[in-house]
Amino acid sequence: MNDRITDTPAPKVSFVSLGCPKALVDSERIVTRLRAEGYELSRQHQGSDLVIVNTCGFLDSAKAESLSAIGNALKENGKVIVTGCMGAEPESISSAYPDVLAITGPQQYESVLDAVHRALPPRHDPFLDLVPPEGIKLTPRHYAYLKISEGCNNRCTFCIIPKLRGDLVSRDAADVLREAEKLTAAGVKELLVISQDTSAYGLDIKYAASRWRDKEVRAKFLDLASALGELGVWVRLHYVYPYPHVDEVIPLMANKKVLPYLDMPLQHAAPDVLKRMRRPASQERTLERIARWREICPDLTLRSTFIVGFPGETDEDFELLLQWLDEASLDRVGCFKYEPVKGAPANDLAAPVPDEVKEQRWHRFMQAQQKISARRLKRKVGTRQQVIIDEVGPSVAKGRSMADAPEIDGAVYVASRRPLRVGEIATVKIERADAYDLHGTAVGF
Ligand code: SF4
Repeated sequence: MNDRITDTPAPKVSFVSLGCPKALVDSERIVTRLRAEGYELSRQHQGSDLVIVNTCGFLDSAKAESLSAIGNALKENGKVIVTGCMGAEPESISSAYPDVLAITGPQQYESVLDAVHRALPPRHDPFLDLVPPEGIKLTPRHYAYLKISEGCNNRCTFCIIPKLRGDLVSRDAADVLREAEKLTAAGVKELLVISQDTSAYGLDIKYAASRWRDKEVRAKFLDLASALGELGVWVRLHYVYPYPHVDEVIPLMANKKVLPYLDMPLQHAAPDVLKRMRRPASQERTLERIARWREICPDLTLRSTFIVGFPGETDEDFELLLQWLDEASLDRVGCFKYEPVKGAPANDLAAPVPDEVKEQRWHRFMQAQQKISARRLKRKVGTRQQVIIDEVGPSVAKGRSMADAPEIDGAVYVASRRPLRVGEIATVKIERADAYDLHGTAVGF
């Protein structure tokens, strides 16, 4: 064994990951590479040799959070490298914090690593610093995000992601599937498929086929979903727009090949607002489509997000949204008050909605949806649900059914006569529902 290596402490890096699941995947990649090079990771800025802050620049409030995280890191440690979405506008960081060591943009893994190498050279020994084959997951071991593409071809007027991350760049299907296989081999029980627009997957590479196991798999939404469905783990699809070809995936959900769950950010229902937002698939007849999906797959859970107070949103537009919401009867819904994002074309649209009107609309929206969500949840009382366990407590474990994505949806609280393990999937009899969560007892393991 090499004495020099055992005598020298490993360089220690503290990592802050802000923003959406997509940013989390970027963080995981950086962290995996750092670990492979022999860096040690710490949760504490103090005592670390360096801090990396992966920023989010989507909304002004996220930017403020990122800037404050950079400020804290500088105060507590002093050596700070900034990466992520805010790195696309380096002046906004360097003007506030001229002392940061380096600023790199989103997905610039190599540049982040170069900056780390310059500030804190690696102490690498491939025999000592082995990385688990699935990489380092910042999410718990039993679930992992699987990023299938970067960037976006849409140009929603409130969004600067295409500016920050560029047009759609899809990964080969075989590449995605190999990563998924490695994750499941390492114990991951649930894969969360993410991208900016999952239903557009493969468009940029003309749906090219690549070889996985003994067959060719096209880089197509349906083909990828069905190949992932062969892995025998939960597969959850996020950021899917209601294009007609999404219909094809519903039978896979009815057969539980992939989870009967669609995260479909719709943002509004009024045609004029959708037009001004320049939303993808806004012309599709979404209500009819949802009704058909539910006929094919009655257990389908639909999650969505909406924006109220978008410039030019009239009272009629808002009433139409509420009416739509009632008819669609979605299971899980998030709602944001419109916030102008620097550099977004929507800022130049006429008729901004006053803050107090935004606030009122947001409250009305949330009240309306809460009733719908509670009604949908109540239907589950008396049923048996498969529940994946996230946390165990002394008497009750906390988990999620197929209808609940981690971090954004509700939970299932499970009483059990035998201790449950994190990552285990138990059959749970649902006894009670409140506004967001379910409660029940494990009846099968
Ligand atoms: S679909 Fe629209 S909101 Fe989503 S990343 Fe693309 S441009 Fe932004």
